[in-house]
Amino acid sequence: MLNKKTVEDIDVKGKRVLVRCDFNVPLDENRNITDDTRIVGALPTIEYLIKNGAKVILCSHMGKPKGEPKPELSLAPVAKALSEKLGKAVVFAADDNVVGENAKKAVAEMADGDVVLLENTRYRVEETKNIDDFSKELASLADVFVNDAFGTAHRAHCSNVGVTQYLPVAACGYLIQKEIQFLGNAVNNPVRPLAAILGGSKVSSKISVINNLLEKVDTLIIGGGMAYTFMKAQGLSIGKSLLEEDFIGYASDMMKKAEEKGVKLLIPIDSVEASEYSNDAEIKICEGGIDDGFMGLDIGPKTIELFSNALKDAKTVVWNGPMGVFEMPNFAKGTNAIAKVLAELDATTVIGGGDSVAAVNKAGLADKMTHISTGGGASLEFLEGKDLPGIVAINDK
Ligand code: ADP
Ligand code: MG
Repeated sequence: MLNKKTVEDIDVKGKRVLVRCDFNVPLDENRNITDDTRIVGALPTIEYLIKNGAKVILCSHMGKPKGEPKPELSLAPVAKALSEKLGKAVVFAADDNVVGENAKKAVAEMADGDVVLLENTRYRVEETKNIDDFSKELASLADVFVNDAFGTAHRAHCSNVGVTQYLPVAACGYLIQKEIQFLGNAVNNPVRPLAAILGGSKVSSKISVINNLLEKVDTLIIGGGMAYTFMKAQGLSIGKSLLEEDFIGYASDMMKKAEEKGVKLLIPIDSVEASEYSNDAEIKICEGGIDDGFMGLDIGPKTIELFSNALKDAKTVVWNGPMGVFEMPNFAKGTNAIAKVLAELDATTVIGGGDSVAAVNKAGLADKMTHISTGGGASLEFLEGKDLPGIVAINDK
């Protein structure tokens, strides 16, 4: 997965380059963009292409229009924002069928360095089903293809996978290149020791991640809600903490596997327990198991110390899933402490998972991490060791 063609490996001068971006930005009720991180993130690839004389045709999905035009999910606001950021006109091709008269005309009139943005690709019902008609139509606008949308890389859609069948070259942009480099190296070619920290609410959502990472890591740290299923498997009492009964056996198997592989697997030795799921609940620190009538909502101080020590010598750390209910201040200490440890480590630190990234941002430590993955679901599948169709479809060097 690591040896993919990038924009710099292909000839773009005078070429019509179709770029799949991730412009799935949040809008308020007046269709103002409330967070332009994704637009800013797409600029390096777009600016490179403009500078090198490409005709830049951008496409993306936004939200879930479910295969029909929905004006409130039009990419028109993105065209405006992009135009401001690039300091040049971005022609918006407002076709309900995405590749329609406006798009064809706009592309036909392009000079080198011009930028056209197509309408929301999910206006077309074919898009998420990867049906050829739409892939062919998209390809008919361009000479080469560039994928820079990591967030959808775990899906095979027309605009990131289907289209590559009908164009001679598919390369990745800088965003995907960075994801492959950091996520890929962290898991498949890490500087050791490699530690992974897993948390979040459910064991069941991260089964394949745990299983795959046990093949790769030197240390596996488990916190968050999923830790209680592991504690239960060890015979500890867990009160009314989050438990997935059906996965107790799985947790035991994973602990056995860790032992066989010589992986150090750590689970919490104390917790912040609460009488109910509320920031205003009565709270206590408890060692070992959880008291009857209480639930564990964060890792405790001794666990913070245990985990911090285990991370001290790590040279690569992958983190997915918060250590507690970080949305409530009383249960955010564990997550913040671990974020701080990672921020100060002399190691490659890679953060994936929507909530973990939010937690690191909230702690103001994002710029202290080596890499923050932009794709929640995609980064999870990467950690599961799966081949992502959107990345497979990019040509090798
Ligand atoms: P990510 O998005 O980083 O992959 P998840 O979606 O798996 O993470 O899990 C995040 C959620 O897990 C958060 O909403 C957090 O409140 C919840 N969580 C963490 N620890 C606990 C706990 N001990 N009990 C209940 N929920 C928890
Ligand atoms: Mg999440």
